[in-house]
Amino acid sequence: MRTEDPRFLAPYTKLLRSSGARAFDLRPAVEREFPRFPLSPEQARKIWAGFLARRGTISPKMYIHIPYCRSHCAYCKYKSGLLPAEGMGGYLKTLSDHAKFYAPVFSGTEFSSLYIGGGTPSLMSPRQIRSFFPALKRMYRFSRGSASSFELNLNDAGPAIFDALKETGFNRVSIGVQTLNARVLAGSNRGHYPVAPETAVREARRRGFRFINLDLILGLKNDTPSSAARSLEQCLASGASGVTLYKLHAQPGSHPGKGALGATRFGAIKLETRVLPKLRSLSESYGYRMRESMSCFEFIQAGGPSPAFAESLRRMFEEGRPVFGLGRYSISSIFGVIEYEDLHGPGPHSHLSLSGLLRPLTGEISKFMCKDFIRNGYSAGLDAFKSRFKISFASYFGKRLLNLRACGIGFTAGGAARIASHDPALAAAAVLYLLDKNGDILRAAAAGGRSPSWTLGAGTARPAKTRKAAQGE
Ligand code: SF4
Repeated sequence: MRTEDPRFLAPYTKLLRSSGARAFDLRPAVEREFPRFPLSPEQARKIWAGFLARRGTISPKMYIHIPYCRSHCAYCKYKSGLLPAEGMGGYLKTLSDHAKFYAPVFSGTEFSSLYIGGGTPSLMSPRQIRSFFPALKRMYRFSRGSASSFELNLNDAGPAIFDALKETGFNRVSIGVQTLNARVLAGSNRGHYPVAPETAVREARRRGFRFINLDLILGLKNDTPSSAARSLEQCLASGASGVTLYKLHAQPGSHPGKGALGATRFGAIKLETRVLPKLRSLSESYGYRMRESMSCFEFIQAGGPSPAFAESLRRMFEEGRPVFGLGRYSISSIFGVIEYEDLHGPGPHSHLSLSGLLRPLTGEISKFMCKDFIRNGYSAGLDAFKSRFKISFASYFGKRLLNLRACGIGFTAGGAARIASHDPALAAAAVLYLLDKNGDILRAAAAGGRSPSWTLGAGTARPAKTRKAAQGE
């Protein structure tokens, strides 16, 4: 093997060093290439109609956003606000009008899944659930047995809401716990939980829910290896079919006005390293399989529902399937064509205000590289890449990949493409080099489009032996 020759990487190592931070935000470069523009609801409807006429057999997913919460969690990076004076009823009325506006376009289409996220969807009362979702299902068709997911706050996870969800066809619930440590909870501004996770899981199981996920966060203010492990243990002991432990990190695009984040990506990494052996032994002792990605640890109960059924919001947008969003701050996406967001903030409104971002295939690949490739320890499954983008990794990255291979930093082996180096800074520069196929990153940096961020940093590179190939997570 030839020795590493970083000459062509010099502009990128320089860029990483000159950013004065341990991380580099790739978004300005990617978004500069595909600028945002205002989009009218009529245009959005026309785009969907045109897409469905061309790809009539495809089954989109539906995402509905409930952008309200009881309080602002200190760490929140999502787009939500406090429930306004008009109340949930007013919001659901608007949502229903928007659903009616788009429904004719989807009359010949069957959705493959439904996901209700937020915010806090469980602020809907059982009565509102019983009236809103049957009406939605009269307007849109969903395939038989498809995943139908609803997010709840542990505070709301009682018999009445589970009854309403079961009656209206939901088959998957995801309950936000985040932590069970009183001190960490107090620092997060979520209030206290009157319900224990095992009670919530028992009530959900009693009503026939097989897929019950509990969400936890690692790295909240005051969190320690023992508080994190204890929270996880209580969740695993509850018998939930899955537990997702998210790694808290600063992320660009946080909703303005939210409280300061409790930890940065790099702060959390230390905690992750310290707590990892304990997480492993806990998952084994409670009969769960642990999977790790850059953003979370997943614990999947042995003999539980298939992980393929474990629809999560994160996966919804990563699979390349079209997603139709409804509600303030919802995102809609047609793979390789467009992504748009309902930008209207919380508060009374009766019209849609959309903002679009054209995202042709090159944009989708940039997005994949900025998220999945980095999240998977600088690696991508070759088959998964080809089936998603209809082009091979080697053909797409061409000469850049060959250059990295020639100096021993880039590899394609064992069904995966990888970037690896004994020097984490060099590996990070190599990822930037690979991503910068069209020179956009260097151009954006020259124009001042750089800022410290979690997105890509020398600190995120791990020793080569711990890297895993992306297996189409
Ligand atoms: S973390 Fe969730 S519950 Fe808390 S403010 Fe944000 S969206 Fe609401």
